[in-house]
Parts: sequence; C-alpha cells; structure tokens
Amino acid sequence: MSRRIIPLADISAIPDFSGIAALPSGRLTDTLARPLRDLRISVTDRCNFRCVYCMPREVFDKDYQFLPHAALLSFEEIERLARVFVAHGVEKIRLTGGEPLLRKNIEFLIERLAMLRTPEGRPLDLTLTTNGSLLARKAQSLKDAGLSRVTVSLDALDDALFRRMNDADFAVADVLHGIETAQAVGLAPLKVNMVVKRGTNDQEIVPMARLFKGSSAVLRFIEYMDVGASNGWNMSEVLPSAQVVDLIDAHFPLIPLEAHSAAETAQRWGYEDGSGEIGVISSVTRAFCGDCTRARLSTEGKLYLCLFASSGHDLRALIRNGATDEEVATAVARIWQARGDRYSQLRGSATDNVRRVEMSYIGG
Ligand code: SAM
Ligand code: SF4
Ligand code: SF4
Repeated sequence: MSRRIIPLADISAIPDFSGIAALPSGRLTDTLARPLRDLRISVTDRCNFRCVYCMPREVFDKDYQFLPHAALLSFEEIERLARVFVAHGVEKIRLTGGEPLLRKNIEFLIERLAMLRTPEGRPLDLTLTTNGSLLARKAQSLKDAGLSRVTVSLDALDDALFRRMNDADFAVADVLHGIETAQAVGLAPLKVNMVVKRGTNDQEIVPMARLFKGSSAVLRFIEYMDVGASNGWNMSEVLPSAQVVDLIDAHFPLIPLEAHSAAETAQRWGYEDGSGEIGVISSVTRAFCGDCTRARLSTEGKLYLCLFASSGHDLRALIRNGATDEEVATAVARIWQARGDRYSQLRGSATDNVRRVEMSYIGG
C-alpha cells in the first residue's frame, strides 16, 4: 500500500511507519507489556492560579507567551484523536491543563467525548482535574454534558497559606463551595488532591484528613514531583507518603486496602472506624512505572508517553496534513508499541540531564 509521507515536527521521536497499517486492536502493548488504557488531554496551557510548584509567577509572568488559539487542538480534532485512542483500548479520559474550566465551552467537548464507546460498547470513564475556582458555577453544566466525576486540587485549609500557594489570592472557601456543588449535582465519587511540599503545607495534612474523613470525597496526598523545569524542585521538599500515612495513622488509625486495579496510581488506606479512605500517590519514593498505562496529549496535540518525557509526537501535524483515521491509528500504535519510558524508576543520575516539559502544558 502506498503511504503519504506526513511531516512531523518531532521526527526523531517517531518510530517506524512502514509496513502494514496497524488496525485498532484494543490490545496495544508497549515494550514493557503495558497496555494503553488512559488518556489525559490538556485543553489549555493557561491557568488563573500560579501555584508555586507548577506555574511560579516569576516564570509565568505577564510576558509569558502562552499558545495562540490556533495552536490549540480544536474540539473536533480532540474528538477525532480520542476516537482513535478509544479504538486502541483507552477506557478513561481525563481533561486537564492548565485549568481546563478556562477553556471556552468545555461542555461541548465533554458532550462529544461522552458519546464515545469502547469496542465492547461501554461508555468511557470521563473525568476532569480542576483547581475548583470555577467549579461551583460550572458543576451542573459539566454534569449535564456527561462528565462522570471530577478531581479537585486543594493544598491547604489555612486560607492565608492556600492564598500564598496558589499565588492568585484565591480563597479556600470558594474551592470548598465548588466541591460541595459538584457533589450535590452527582459528580461522584469526587477526589481531592493535595500536593504535599515539606516545609510548606505539611502541617495541613491532618486538618485536611479530618475535614474529609467521613465525607464521600476521597482525599489523596501527592508527593511533590520534579516535573517541569521551573519549580526549582529539591528532594528535601518531598515528604515521603509513608510519613503522611504514619502522621494520619497517629490521629485516625488506618488499615491498608486492596487496589481497585493494577494501574491505580494511589495506594489506598481505610480508616479503621469505617469512615472512608485516603490515597497516597508516591510518585517519587515508590515508582509505579511498571503499571503505567497513561498517554498524554498536550494542548497543541503532541503525544507524550511519560509525564517526564522531553519530547512528544506531533499528532496535530499529522491530522492537519490530511492523515486518514487509519494513518493516525497506525501512528499511535507504532508510537505506543515503541514506548519504554519509566522515568520514576530510573530517577537519579540517569535522568539528571533530561529536559522536561511543564506540567501545565502536558497536563497533570
Ligand atoms: N489546574 C488543574 C488543577 O490544578 O487541578 C489541573 C492541572 S494540574 C497541572 C493537575 C494536578 O497536578 C494538580 O492536582 C496539581 O496539584 C498537580 N501538580 C502540579 N505540579 C505538581 C508537582 N510539581 N508535583 C506534584 N503534583 C503537581
Ligand atoms: Fe494551575 Fe493546576 Fe498548575 Fe495550580 S496546579 S498552577 S491550578 S495548572
Ligand atoms: Fe508513567 Fe512516566 Fe510516571 Fe513512570 S514516570 S509512572 S512511566 S508517567
């Protein structure tokens, strides 16, 4: 079969395109036998927060060049790519950013994605991660559009500290109001993510656990990661999850729970008194690359195979140059089948000089 040559910006990262087309199989595996199951899509690189660990104001200042609108994947393009990924085995899509609720008419995209079905005919697990600032206003329309659930980021209950951490003078009470509204409209089960930075917000761990204990929201503690190049990450600021568990256990006894699935990033702990559970995501101290089934689509349509990858595969160029669905499916298959990324397992001298993209661009 003759094949058009389609220019890709990141040619070096594109594996062999030759040979027969790879038909969507639903059983794609990479070089470490990991299937493709999750897709995170960054719908904007902009954010109304300037979290110190993600978009520090010194870097993301008024002169920072965000992507122009034409560079972003359109909703049609996102849906088309998502369809290919779903045919290849993706069952869960998470919209992220930047702040995904800043993308105009995001509900229209959700409506389109909610219509997709797996090869077995099941709807997707369609979710979104948000800083919560616009959630109270948008929860109902997100639910109506077909969103299954949401994850809300909240790093502190102390208002002054939270305002310092988001560096946008945003109040805790508004995020909590967003969480309540999302729960009230049925965006459940809701998860709350707290990034723990030692020396910054570790004193908030127990108050956060106390607030969400007994509620239907599942609180998850995330180790501060060396993602991106602008946050000045330092290992001394990582509080190992094991210490988070010990700290909470001393106040509210915990018992380990089984994982829901092998690919689950969080380790689950239940309160001994039966009042719910917490999760810890030990991205730094306990790498879970062996079960990593996640691909990431950046705001401008580059496919990244790892949160720490230094380059992506330009799917936007592919589709804007007229590739057929079959060609896109073949490209995605070839890329995933060549994947060997496992940054967290290798973290250390082997990864010291790796150039990393920003979390707000690639999507958390
Ligand atoms: N703006 C949305 C939000 O904050 O929920 C979505 C995008 S944000 C990049 C996704 C998640 O990544 C958030 O929960 C955030 O706390 C987390 N995150 C950002 N930088 C991080 C870092 N250096 N280490 C660990 N988690 C980080
Ligand atoms: Fe924005 Fe989310 Fe990054 Fe905070 S973590 S700056 S809310 S993208
Ligand atoms: Fe997946 Fe990369 Fe994170 Fe490992 S470091 S779990 S491969 S995203």
